Amino acid sequence: MSRPVCVQCQVEFRPVKCGIAAEAMATFGSYQLFMADLYQCPGCGISIVHEFSTEPIAEHFQENYTRNVEARSAGRPHVQYWRNLEEKRRYEREREAERDSRLTA
Ligand SMILES: [Zn+2]
Repeated sequence: MSRPVCVQCQVEFRPVKCGIAAEAMATFGSYQLFMADLYQCPGCGISIVHEFSTEPIAEHFQENYTRNVEARSAGRPHVQYWRNLEEKRRYEREREAERDSRLTA
């Protein structure tokens, strides 16, 4: 078992919620859904997502993917995350461009 530590507070993170929905995002949108645990630093209160399921429980190409993500996210914490900031910014820019093109159409 891995033990995440807050560098700022020099104390181990504590699990606050087991079994949250962690949605891996790509530039085109939702990519994979994992189950994971939510941890929090008892010192500064920063939260992290940790202890991901080894395999995704759902993937974007599967039938009913969107419905599956909604069902797995209902009534529990749900986080969307990107592999890195560049991908997240590109996703946001593309969604913004889509919104703008709809407004001018
Ligand atoms: Zn801390």
